[in-house]
Amino acid sequence: MAERADVVVIGGGVVGVSAAHALAERGIRAQLLERGEICSGCSHGNAGWVFPSHALPIPGPGVLRQALGWLLDPDGPLYIRPRASLSLARWLWSFLGACNRAAERRAFALRRELSLASLVRYRELAELPGLEFDFEQRGILLVCRSRAELAEAEREIGILREFGGEARRLDANELRERVPACAEDLAGGVHFSADAHLTPQRFVHGLASEAQRLGVRLRTGTEVLRLERSGARLRLATTRGEIEAEQVVVATGAWSPELAGQLGLRVPVEGAKGYSVTRERPTDFPEQPLLLAEAKVAITPMGRTLRFGGTLELAGRDLGVSWRRLRAILRAVSEYLPGLPETPTLEIWRGLRPLTPDDLPIIGRSRRQPGVVLATGHGMNGLAQGPITGQLVAQLVAGEPTSLDLGPFSPDRF
Ligand SMILES: Cc1cc2nc3c(=O)[nH]c(=O)nc-3n(C[C@H](O)[C@H](O)[C@H](O)COP(=O)(O)OP(=O)(O)OC[C@H]3O[C@@H](n4cnc5c(N)ncnc54)[C@H](O)[C@@H]3O)c2cc1C
Repeated sequence: MAERADVVVIGGGVVGVSAAHALAERGIRAQLLERGEICSGCSHGNAGWVFPSHALPIPGPGVLRQALGWLLDPDGPLYIRPRASLSLARWLWSFLGACNRAAERRAFALRRELSLASLVRYRELAELPGLEFDFEQRGILLVCRSRAELAEAEREIGILREFGGEARRLDANELRERVPACAEDLAGGVHFSADAHLTPQRFVHGLASEAQRLGVRLRTGTEVLRLERSGARLRLATTRGEIEAEQVVVATGAWSPELAGQLGLRVPVEGAKGYSVTRERPTDFPEQPLLLAEAKVAITPMGRTLRFGGTLELAGRDLGVSWRRLRAILRAVSEYLPGLPETPTLEIWRGLRPLTPDDLPIIGRSRRQPGVVLATGHGMNGLAQGPITGQLVAQLVAGEPTSLDLGPFSPDRF
């Protein structure tokens, strides 16, 4: 006999946990199924940024020029490992279709809107007693080595201003005043003052406990093996028995295509692997995160630790560690910040960002499977957009009007 449930959320990352929490806040008691531990996927070791200012999507007008380099340079910040895969070929085709100015501006506006809405939610959650996640809103410093990169930053600032955001150029001296460990030969930087950062794994674990307190049943070590329709309900075959649910939320990050595919839904999400190295924090490291512009490496102070994260590699679901790419992150850190002392390493981590070809998340119901809500494909922004995604999912499940238009995020857009 299958167990009966009203709502089942699959995936215990920032998106699934935010959805389960938002459901519980509405009095809807969900079960959350996670095959590993809570926050054991991509939500664990990321850079912890909530960055509405920095909303340019990966596909953009200059990308076509760079694309060949990505295929050929395994050390570069973005690398596509060549492999024969029909789904990758289709994904790349759609990605190229989004590499134009109009799509870039549209995506910028939408990504910014999601991150701004999440920021409001993060501020509210940071006030909850007992939920502590090192939330700080001090902005982010972009650090550029070359004049060309500063010019590119200028273009981004122009777009940001059109959408009501603010950023301030810093010359090399101002930059060194703020970050004394910086190299002598840097071109300058930009301070994006509205952005925030936090410790992601603290947030997700804390929110999961809060959701549990509100009535969510957290079932870790429970993998969904099969998802299929059973009349008006959905049947989940899990490693811990069968469940029949009225509504299912698929929040399985980079692993979403398989589960959704079992229901006949095409979810073009590629795993975009990235790494982070967490070290003890040197005493004089500033309170602000840094983005090393050309190398695309993020450095985030998180309590007593300092995390270096970066690289993006389209390599399927492979979680193997490329030491070459990992070393490229640390090499960039020592080139931009030669004055930063090397402190003991606490963790080396890698994760798969769930990336869609237009770099917009998939949030909503498909016309073809009305009992299923998809919440995936957040790419580089899952932490930044997780809380608002949770709200939107809960509104859909509860049959309420959604607080943002979900048309641009529809699963049926591909
Ligand atoms: C180096 C790096 C830095 C990053 N920095 C940032 C940042 O600063 N800001 C930001 O916003 N984003 C950042 N990201 C991206 C962010 O980490 C992701 O977008 C986000 O974690 C995705 O969350 P998720 O809940 O969708 O997926 P996940 O956290 O991967 O969660 C999905 C969960 O589903 C579970 N699961 C999968 N299949 C099943 C199944 N069949 N049954 C049960 N459970 C299943 C998995 O075990 C996993 O726990 C970064 C990513 C990387 C790699």
